[in-house]
Amino acid sequence: MKQSQIFFPTLKEVPTEAQIPSHKLMLRAGLVRQLGAGIFSYLPLGYRIAKKVMNIIREEMDAIGGQEFHLPALNPIEIWEQTGRVEAMGDVLFHIKNREGLVLAPTHEEIITFHARQHIHSYRDLPQIWYQIQTKFRNEPRPKSGVLRGRQFTMKDSYSLDATREGLDASYEKHASAYRNIYSRSGLKFFVVGASSGAMGGSASQEFMVESPYGEDTCAVCDSCGYAANIEVASSALSAAERIADNNSTEEFATPGARSINDLINGYNIPEERCAKSVVYIVDSKPVLILMRGNDELNEAKLQSALKAVNLRPAEAAELLEITGANAGSIGPVGLKTPALIIADNLLRDANGMVSGANRDGFHIRNIDFNRDFTVSSFHDLRMARAGEQCSNDCGNALRVVNAIEVGHIFKLGTKYSSALGATFLDENGTENPIIMGSYGIGVERIIACFIEQNHDDKGIFWSPAIAPYHVHILGLNIKKSEITREVSEKLAQQCAEAGLEVLYDDRDESPGVKFNDADLLGLPVQVIAGERNIKDGKIELKIRATGERKTVEIDKAIDEIRDILRI
Ligand code: ATP
Ligand code: MG
Repeated sequence: MKQSQIFFPTLKEVPTEAQIPSHKLMLRAGLVRQLGAGIFSYLPLGYRIAKKVMNIIREEMDAIGGQEFHLPALNPIEIWEQTGRVEAMGDVLFHIKNREGLVLAPTHEEIITFHARQHIHSYRDLPQIWYQIQTKFRNEPRPKSGVLRGRQFTMKDSYSLDATREGLDASYEKHASAYRNIYSRSGLKFFVVGASSGAMGGSASQEFMVESPYGEDTCAVCDSCGYAANIEVASSALSAAERIADNNSTEEFATPGARSINDLINGYNIPEERCAKSVVYIVDSKPVLILMRGNDELNEAKLQSALKAVNLRPAEAAELLEITGANAGSIGPVGLKTPALIIADNLLRDANGMVSGANRDGFHIRNIDFNRDFTVSSFHDLRMARAGEQCSNDCGNALRVVNAIEVGHIFKLGTKYSSALGATFLDENGTENPIIMGSYGIGVERIIACFIEQNHDDKGIFWSPAIAPYHVHILGLNIKKSEITREVSEKLAQQCAEAGLEVLYDDRDESPGVKFNDADLLGLPVQVIAGERNIKDGKIELKIRATGERKTVEIDKAIDEIRDILRI
């Protein structure tokens, strides 16, 4: 393809709306353009990349027996009402204003289940894996970070339909391995975490994550054993302190001005591990006092699953006063004004010699014994794991806490949608059962943007051969003046094409500097630098974009060399 003839609008300046590298580079390299908040147009080079990603996804889905559908984005709202998701999705669901009763699909569980209900009647019709690569619409409240969070985006979504739990396990495992292949083939470095299952009823689910400072998720990862978990469920190897020998009785003491654990540590010389912080939550309308060690942060997701709670929130100031008799900073488990459930973090098991609030403003109590002075109804892992703590897999390595972007999600749905929509089948005994389902999603744009986040420098992107818009960039230098350079460049372009390589030939009447900059910005894996001096020696220069490595090779060996570099 001749560069002079294609639409490839590069930008020298970084557009002000773009904050993160992938967004800046996708705009600068002419891959996408923004049409509105969270709405992007793919330009031709960007769409070439998207098609390559979609093809990899398609091949891997076909390899696990997936059958490709293409479902409408326009959906009757009744189906969404039947599963309760009009309400659950709230503002994220786009409603059509001038045609009542239609919504734009943010995902397709409902529609798949609708078709399953129509045509799946017997265990003999199962299992099935149905997928599509299609446009999704979500009215994201804060579309940002370019295509990473769009209001319209492309998702591969698939759904497994099974007759048994074992069948679902098998379909889920197939997806897990297909997903690994998809990311590996695309060239993404990723890790997998078990997602928080609290609100979902405990079914298995995994998220595929890409480490990035711009990620909206936080994960704890161990680089030694590969442990990775969403911070909502991550744990570390810390254990409770030994009981201390001096078990004196409780004693109230004045702590004017001490409102935080740090005030106690610094102002009253109390070691952090002797402090028990009290936090009060209203959990499903009931007050719960939660004790954490020192400055440990309460993890709400862990609290929610420990108490199997539906709704929870921190108590307000007035409620605190009513329950404990004191304001935040002076509350504790001993002598509550109103009885409340008391639970504690595992690190406080059997604790004694502890300091906590006295439920009287400006006072604390020392020598508190958790086994003597009040009743802890249960102990749980309730703390937020922190960077630097040891991995809980006994590998002795320090955990890192990183931001990450979710690129995919696999989820055992069970019978939620099939029950709601009446999609049932007759099992071998003739009994009617709801179909057991799984749901699996991958964001196409997220793969592209995450790839760029991991593979770029100041000058531009470096694509992997698998998803590069073209494989080879031939830069014909000064071809207006140098006939021989033009001839050799054209011949090489033709030979590349004959060898099955996709080639972009920069035949423009631009300076070498402009060509080098554009080539580095676009980031095709191999650059062929065709300059007269080398050509007169029968040679050509190759540059590997990712490493910057340069090689001067004989012209008639160039194609073999390029294929070697690309490994295709
Ligand atoms: P997030 O928590 O980031 O909003 P999600 O949990 O809503 O993601 P799913 O509903 O599981 O995402 O969708 C499956 C996949 O679709 C995600 O793993 C992600 O790759 C992609 N995706 C979801 N929302 C968007 C979006 N607004 N823009 C681009 N891709 C998205
Ligand atoms: Mg979302």
